Amino acid sequence: MSALILDGKALSLESEADLTQRVAAIKEQNNGQAPILATILVGADPASATYVKMKQNACKRIGMESIAVEMPSTTSTRELLAKIDELNINPNCHGILLQHPVPSQIDERACFDQIDIAKDVDGVTCHGFGRMAMDEEAYGSATPQGIMRILEAYDIDLIGKHAVVVGRSPILGKPMSLMLLNGHATVTICHSRTQNLPDLIKQADVIVGAVGRPEFIQAEWIKDGAVVIDAGYHPGGVGDIELGPLVDRVAAYTPVPGGVGPMTINTLIQQSVIAAEKSL
Ligand code: NAP
Repeated sequence: MSALILDGKALSLESEADLTQRVAAIKEQNNGQAPILATILVGADPASATYVKMKQNACKRIGMESIAVEMPSTTSTRELLAKIDELNINPNCHGILLQHPVPSQIDERACFDQIDIAKDVDGVTCHGFGRMAMDEEAYGSATPQGIMRILEAYDIDLIGKHAVVVGRSPILGKPMSLMLLNGHATVTICHSRTQNLPDLIKQADVIVGAVGRPEFIQAEWIKDGAVVIDAGYHPGGVGDIELGPLVDRVAAYTPVPGGVGPMTINTLIQQSVIAAEKSL
């Protein structure tokens, strides 16, 4: 059996074509005013700087603009909260991305939660999380929302399926689990204190790897015919799941790179366009 490749890159390009038209329509109806995403980068972490650049480039490709806010690594919580307040009331800013992680002296949760719910296009606030969990309208956390869009685009049936999510971070594992639950899967959430991880993973019809450790989830733990979603990306082009031996025996998988990553960025810009459509 040759597995279906869940091609996030191709889906993101299709979506960008649609978003480009929507941005053009927004500009036409608003005297040339483009949707604007504010990106906040605190500190000098090179990986974070690269992610922010990729998000700004994605904005450019669809005709959106971005406000690039860069703050030093010595920034305090109070200073970051003040910057977020400023963007919250700026009518020319339609969405706010605070790049995770921020330096350790900053209360990241407080800063995420300061983002106006109408501008929370990366889906990081407790308010947005709660609404999403209750299946109310909300901007989903970008990575898990991007994964849900991949599953939907490829007609992956979740109803009654056993989904196992490895990882419970606020921006990935936790919202992922709730989204799959809302999609009527039966969900098991695993984390660093979980016992018998391989046995739990062996039961998965859908497995999501969101651990942050290269190829931590071994191919032999995954059953034939499973749907494999790998959110990880590490140097050397590997994810959190050992994908190599799986490609001939699972039903479908997200490649690394080219699976979850492009749809994370695409979801951020899609939600920014929606926020601009609502506000303009
Ligand atoms: P994180 O905040 O470090 O969370 C990692 C999670 O894995 C935690 O919940 C942790 O459990 C769990 N974990 C750690 N060791 C484990 C073990 N031995 N067994 C079971 N669970 C274990 O990471 P994250 O931000 O969620 O990111 C996860 C992965 O996704 C990373 O590879 C990251 O690069 C990737 N990612 C990709 C994108 C994208 O755009 N493609 C975006 C974000 C993240 P505890 O809660 O118990 O500590």
